[in-house]
Amino acid sequence: MRVRVLGTAAGGGLPQWNCGCGPCERARATGPGAWRSQEALAVSVSDDAWYLVNASPDTRGQLLAVPDLAPPAGTRRTPVRGVLLTDGELDHTVGLFALREGAALDIHAPQAVLAALTDAFPLRGLLAPYGTVRWHPVPSAGGELLLDEGRLAVSAVPISDKRPRYAEQSTAAGPWVVGYRLRETATGATLLYVPSLARWPDELDALLDEAHCALLDGTFWTEDEMAAIHPGSRTATAMGHLPISGPGGTLARLRPGTRVLYTHLNNTNPLSDPDSPARAALAAGGAEVAEDGQEIVI
Ligand SMILES: [Zn+2]
Repeated sequence: MRVRVLGTAAGGGLPQWNCGCGPCERARATGPGAWRSQEALAVSVSDDAWYLVNASPDTRGQLLAVPDLAPPAGTRRTPVRGVLLTDGELDHTVGLFALREGAALDIHAPQAVLAALTDAFPLRGLLAPYGTVRWHPVPSAGGELLLDEGRLAVSAVPISDKRPRYAEQSTAAGPWVVGYRLRETATGATLLYVPSLARWPDELDALLDEAHCALLDGTFWTEDEMAAIHPGSRTATAMGHLPISGPGGTLARLRPGTRVLYTHLNNTNPLSDPDSPARAALAAGGAEVAEDGQEIVI
């Protein structure tokens, strides 16, 4: 299984256009090499088929940066076969507009997200005249979705019922946010992708144990990170993201044996600085920070 990390920042990216916090200023001063685009992933288990997980506002640049995702010379045949959505957040869906001129595209998302993309944010209707898009609800707990002619098995991991702000009034039943377990059927190689963790589901420990690699929600390093920079801001947990560090943090829950990388870093997260004490503490805890463009082979 080949994994390409397309983007590693939370909504807004790093630096964020309207933010002058320490990490944003550092990224501006260092230049584009230190910037992070908004979180997304690409996965492949065969040469000519790739699946995206989430479609960020940075989709176009992210696809252009990866030669494997280019069409073969002389064709308009994209290797991008489909998209899995972890939720309906704008940061994970508006990139679908950038894919509108391709051939038929299969998009998989939780049922509640499909409903929200039909009414509260009518992306499905807006895209319909521009090409063939097939929308599929992801199987509920326990079910497996077979992609790439059975070579890639995907199951959804229910995480939370956190709705996008535009759909806060929706009464659709959850889950609204899921992670994905992606397994290459021929080899058993397994990747766990959970970029939003409002809580730690009971089954996550076992899923982490059996995965060869996991990318987890790294939005905030500390619980009070936003308030320290922007007084009055909510805590990490109140914003739907367990912090990495601290007694309630996700780092303390990791067990040896599985490679874990954190992604979806908010622009306030000190982990974006490779020389930060936070980065050293993360390494001591046995985890890594995912980088834009990083390739992982499982
Ligand atoms: Zn900032």
